[in-house]
Amino acid sequence: MSCKLMKKSVCCLKLARHCNISYNVFRTLQTNQDANKDTVDIVISGGGMVGTTLACALGKEGFLHGKKIVLLESASEKKFDLPAEYSNRTCALSPATVNLLSGLGVWDEILQMRCQPVKRMQVWDSCSDSIITFNNDDLNDNLAYIVENDVILEAVKRSLPKSHNLNIKYNTSAKSYIIPGITPGHDGLDQNSWVTVQLNDGSEIKTKLLIGADGMNSTVRKTCEFHTLRSDYGQSGLVATLKLTGDTENNVAWQRFLPTGPIAMLPLSNTDSCLIWTTTTENAKHLKQLSEDSFIDAVNDAFWHDRDMNSLAISAGGILNGVLNNILPGGASSSRQLPPTVVGIAANSRAAFPLGLLHSSSYAGHRVALIGDAAHRIHPLAGQGVNLGFGDVACLRNLLVEAVKNGTDLGSLALLAEYETQRQRSVLPVVGVIDGLQRLYSNSFTPIVMIRSLGLQTVNSLHFLKNIIIKQAST
Ligand SMILES: Cc1cc2nc3c(=O)[nH]c(=O)nc-3n(C[C@H](O)[C@H](O)[C@H](O)COP(=O)(O)OP(=O)(O)OC[C@H]3O[C@@H](n4cnc5c(N)ncnc54)[C@H](O)[C@@H]3O)c2cc1C
Repeated sequence: MSCKLMKKSVCCLKLARHCNISYNVFRTLQTNQDANKDTVDIVISGGGMVGTTLACALGKEGFLHGKKIVLLESASEKKFDLPAEYSNRTCALSPATVNLLSGLGVWDEILQMRCQPVKRMQVWDSCSDSIITFNNDDLNDNLAYIVENDVILEAVKRSLPKSHNLNIKYNTSAKSYIIPGITPGHDGLDQNSWVTVQLNDGSEIKTKLLIGADGMNSTVRKTCEFHTLRSDYGQSGLVATLKLTGDTENNVAWQRFLPTGPIAMLPLSNTDSCLIWTTTTENAKHLKQLSEDSFIDAVNDAFWHDRDMNSLAISAGGILNGVLNNILPGGASSSRQLPPTVVGIAANSRAAFPLGLLHSSSYAGHRVALIGDAAHRIHPLAGQGVNLGFGDVACLRNLLVEAVKNGTDLGSLALLAEYETQRQRSVLPVVGVIDGLQRLYSNSFTPIVMIRSLGLQTVNSLHFLKNIIIKQAST
């Protein structure tokens, strides 16, 4: 700080004390005084679904109207026209996400484009007769909505407020970050030590709070050197847009656990569904290269074949079924429905993505927070990945609003530690359960098959437990 500026600040501080203004208010006044185009309150690095939604949520928040917010996105801004063909990249959005997006006006935009409700879900094992079904008849709500990623992002962009305090910079990459207390030589952890974001065009932005929404390879997380748990499943998620036989009501999500990984068919419309087929990386490559007809045969076969059936698990399941039918008033078994037959695939819709688990031990530090895949990336078998990211958005927005109301520094470690605590309480159990399920079902060892089959059958017969599971997955 120059001598002249320092004298001015001391003078202001004395004036503030004289007028009985709190130090925080004084800092805000000082911030506004010092403000120039390179000094902002919040920088969100990464404008994917999660980062853009946070920008929208903060930009629309009345309490934050005095705060300057910048969203950085390395990709260029694309003009979006809803294509006739469905995209192969989709997400199952939970009721909690729909709630968040409704509050931001995003859900109305999605409804004006397209989405498909999921009213029933059937999950079954290829090694036994065990099956679990979920439907929300009792709870008056859809289980989820299947929405294309492009539609979600476009809907969020259309909902972004046109306020002067939100500046969105496309085609702009954050090259590196200087974070006080983390970057060597920048040790200050006081109110005056801000984060410096160095951009690809050579310019810099200083900010009180840096939010890393820059995906699974997050540079923000790497700069912070947060210890990160990683597990490579050696699997790929093969996606495609499927054409179904006939034009009938299509609102069931189907998932069959094969020893190589789950295969799922999620409804997009009455004639289209999306495929998410988890398999070995080798097999994914092979499936991508198959002719269209052979690929369609392979998909139908994966949902229908009984080559993996384990006779011991089937017998044990039959005995358990008899016992449960005797002791449970409604009976134990759900009616197994047959998935629709696939008759075609959209041209060039096959693509494969490597799958793995990634969990950052910390989601926050002094003046830094991570959201979305930058903090946690999970297997898509339960369709929870982006929903966890939207949960981060809701939590951080609420805490930042509280901070503004209380005059707290937006980048304070206490505030961001609270964010980390709240989110890890929700995210860690999901990460654990999904990783456990993925390992439990990637196995055809008879005792394991028996345990999981009997467990699934028992849970399926306990309606109260299924309702608890639905409620948990909805939040
Ligand atoms: C096959 C598959 C199926 C899935 N299905 C589901 C599902 O059904 N339900 C569900 O909830 N989730 C699902 N997911 C997970 C979901 O896709 C991710 O959780 C979600 O895309 C993460 O969004 P994000 O915004 O956090 O990260 P990203 O989408 O990775 O966005 C990060 C953004 O940051 C930008 N960026 C990166 N570095 C910089 C930088 N230095 N400067 C500026 N910008 C930068 C990138 O350009 C990008 O736009 C699935 C994932 C896969 C692979």
